[in-house]
Amino acid sequence: MNILFLGPPGSGKGTQSKMLQDKYGLVHLSTGDMFREAIGKKTEVGMKAKAFMDRGEYVPDGVVIDLIRDRLSQSDCKNGFILDGFPRTEPQAKALDGLLKSLHMELDSIFFFDLAKEILVARLSSRRTCRNCNRVVSAEQLKEIPTSETCSKKSGPCDFYQRTDDSAEVVTKRIEVYQNQTAPIIGFYEKSKSFLRVDGSVAPEAVFSVLEKALKKA
Ligand code: AMP
Repeated sequence: MNILFLGPPGSGKGTQSKMLQDKYGLVHLSTGDMFREAIGKKTEVGMKAKAFMDRGEYVPDGVVIDLIRDRLSQSDCKNGFILDGFPRTEPQAKALDGLLKSLHMELDSIFFFDLAKEILVARLSSRRTCRNCNRVVSAEQLKEIPTSETCSKKSGPCDFYQRTDDSAEVVTKRIEVYQNQTAPIIGFYEKSKSFLRVDGSVAPEAVFSVLEKALKKA
């Protein structure tokens, strides 16, 4: 099962990816997570991406396309993957098309998470992310997490922080960049019979059941 998630930042793509990954063992391909990992390791790709990300701008297409080409060609992706955060521009969408053809792969389901800008801003500004497993919670939920709960990647509890690009100023810029550069490519996928528009404003469990129902039919 190969899945594509489209939608603005804060629409729940990462949360739903993790839920699908946990239940169905699909490979989660998040270009944002890949860049953050590269920045942490101070690799060349990480160094190239950092300044763009801190400003809320997109990393140049060539860098992102090379990254996804390498990752998608790895053997674990043959068992099914979720693309989360790629493609974000028209050249990336075209590159993905060519890449999938060359790898003899297809997208089985395309989900577009739709929700109002005001909800996105509120969600992103209160979002806290675990440095190790990338789990996302709201500042409110963070207060409720029992200290006994452990991280899925490291021993001990999750290490939550606020991403620099989740600060109020950068969030506004990211939504603007999404509207200018990514929203236009939705039309490219909308025509596909595998496309489904999902209401991203409801609880994660409710979104997940919509996805599962659609995946059973795919
Ligand atoms: P995300 O974690 O998906 O919100 O991505 C965080 C940041 O990584 C974005 O704001 C971009 O700066 C960069 N990024 C991630 N994916 C892409 C992409 N497909 N194209 C360009 N930049 C990207």
